[in-house]
Amino acid sequence: MRLILLGAPGAGKGTVAKMLTALDGSVQISTGDILRGAVKAGTELGKKAKGFMDSGALVPDELILDIMGERLLQDDCKPGFLLDGFPRTIPQADALKGMLTKLGIELDAAVNLDVPRDVILDRLTTRRTCSNSACQEIYNVKSKPTKVEGVCDKCGSPVIQRDDETTEAISKRLDTFNAQTAPLVGYYEKEGLLLNVNATSSDAVVAAIKEKVGI
Ligand code: ADP
Ligand code: ZN
Repeated sequence: MRLILLGAPGAGKGTVAKMLTALDGSVQISTGDILRGAVKAGTELGKKAKGFMDSGALVPDELILDIMGERLLQDDCKPGFLLDGFPRTIPQADALKGMLTKLGIELDAAVNLDVPRDVILDRLTTRRTCSNSACQEIYNVKSKPTKVEGVCDKCGSPVIQRDDETTEAISKRLDTFNAQTAPLVGYYEKEGLLLNVNATSSDAVVAAIKEKVGI
């Protein structure tokens, strides 16, 4: 399947994408994961992106479009892809449209994961992520704690709070989302691609997507 996953930070795009990859071999493409990997590896891209990310702002469109232009050409995208965190602005959506037209590819849907703001805030402040970039298992101090405090159940690496998951950065990320990304819902509605789902449960989101794409 070929989907865009839209939704505020903490709406569960990553969780849903991981559940969907298990269904049909489509690959999850998370621009956030790509950028965090670049920051950790200390690449030129990472150095340019870090300040924007830590403050909760978006990384400039040119950087993201360079990454995605190359990423979509890779062979693992052929069976399908789940775009998690891209596009995030109208110019990115326009650019994606151009890339897909060139590749002769059509999207199945742009899925909007709709979650109330208080649920989002609670999820983000209690979220913890495995620091091992090859693992990145996500935990939650309330609903999914690690067995041993601060240690990943899967790989034993330290489990941390992301730099952009402080209360100030979270509130900035939500403002950024409302100003720059929320308008994409209207954009994809006009394109006839929008699937709006109540995303309080990830299982319900996956069920709605399966029905929509017919698998
Ligand atoms: P979130 O939990 O906010 O959805 P992500 O892991 O998707 O977080 O992204 C983390 C950060 O990476 C964002 O706050 C932003 O700075 C940057 N980023 C990720 N994707 C994009 C994008 N498509 N355009 C611009 N910046 C992006
Ligand atoms: Zn781990």
